[in-house]
Amino acid sequence: MHQSENSNDWKWQVANRIATREQLEKQIVLTEEERSAFDGDIPLSFAVTPHYASLLNNEALRRTVIPTAHEHKHGTGELADPLGEEDHRATPHLIHTYPDKVLFLATPFCSTYCRYCTRSRLVGKSPANFQALEESFQYIETHAEIRDVLLSGGDPLTMTDPVLDEILSRLRNIPHVRMVRIGSKVPIVLPMRITDELCSILRKHRVWLSLHFIHAAELSTQTQAACRKLSDHGIGMVSQTVLLKGINDDTQTLTELFYGLLEINVKPYYLLQCDPVRGSAHFRTTVEKGIELIRSLHGNISGLAVPQYVIDAPGGGGKVPILGHDQIRREGGDVVFRNYEGKEYRYPDPA
Ligand code: SF4
Repeated sequence: MHQSENSNDWKWQVANRIATREQLEKQIVLTEEERSAFDGDIPLSFAVTPHYASLLNNEALRRTVIPTAHEHKHGTGELADPLGEEDHRATPHLIHTYPDKVLFLATPFCSTYCRYCTRSRLVGKSPANFQALEESFQYIETHAEIRDVLLSGGDPLTMTDPVLDEILSRLRNIPHVRMVRIGSKVPIVLPMRITDELCSILRKHRVWLSLHFIHAAELSTQTQAACRKLSDHGIGMVSQTVLLKGINDDTQTLTELFYGLLEINVKPYYLLQCDPVRGSAHFRTTVEKGIELIRSLHGNISGLAVPQYVIDAPGGGGKVPILGHDQIRREGGDVVFRNYEGKEYRYPDPA
C-alpha cells in the first residue's frame, strides 16, 4: 500500500483505515478462503490501520484481523456476551460487576478490530455520544465503594486529547476513585498516537495502561518507540495477552513476546484463556494446553517475564488464576473451576 508522507500522523492512519476487501487487496494478496469470508455479512466489525496492515506478512498476526469463514460457526457454550456484562450494566456506558470496580465503556471505536474480541457485540457498532457520559460520571460519584475505574470500549486512546483529558479529569476529581486504568491496543496498531501531548495527559492523571499484545511480531520499531516514550513519561504499563490457538500457543513464541515486552518496560501481567465469544472456537486452545504452557515458562525464564494464566469465568465470576490441573475438573465438554468466592464456573473447552 502506498504510505503517504502523512502516515506518521495518527489521524491520517484512522482516516485511511482499511475497511473493505478491495482496500485490503491493494495491500496484500488474499487466499480464496479469506476472499470468500467477505461475501455476505461479516459478523464482526472489520478494520485495520495501514500501520498494522504493514505487519500482516506475519501469518500469526494476519489470522487475528482478517475474517475467515470460521467466524460464522457458533460452538457449544459460545455467547455474544460471554462474561455476562449486560446483566451488570449500570448506565449506558458502565458495567458494574464487582463492588469496588467499574468498567467504563468510553467508546465503541477501535482503529483495528481483533477477530476474537470479547466485546465484538459492541465494538465498531455505533458512535459514542459524549454528552451521554454525564449519567455515568454521576453514578461513580454517588457510589463511594468504587475505587478502580477501567476505561475501555473500544479503545479509549483513539479519542482526541481534549475528550480524553476531560473524561480523566472528571474521574480524577472523584475523591474515592483511587485508580484509573485504560485498556488499549493503540501502541501496537496505531503507535503514532503516542505523542508527547498524550503522554502528558496520561501522566497528569496518573493513569496505568493495560496493553493488549499477542505476538512478538507486533513489536515494530514504532511500537517499541511508543512504549519507551510512555515509560519515559512515567506511565505504568502491563500486558494482557490472549492465548490463541496456532498464533501464540507455544513456549518459544510466548518467551519471545514476554522478554520483548520487558525490554520496553511493559510487564507481562495476564495470559488470558480466550473467552468463549461466538465464532471463537478456531482461536481457543484447551485449558490443559494453557496449564502446560505456563508450567513450561515457570523456572525456565525470568519470573518477571511470566504472567499469570487466568480464565475470565464465563458469566461474570472474575479472573481466576489457574496454576495446575488440581484446580479444574472436566464434565462433558466443560472445564469446571471455582472463583475467589468458591463459586463454580464452567468454561466450554474446545477439546
Ligand atoms: S482492541 Fe480490544 S476492544 Fe478493540 S477489537 Fe481488539 S480486543 Fe476488542
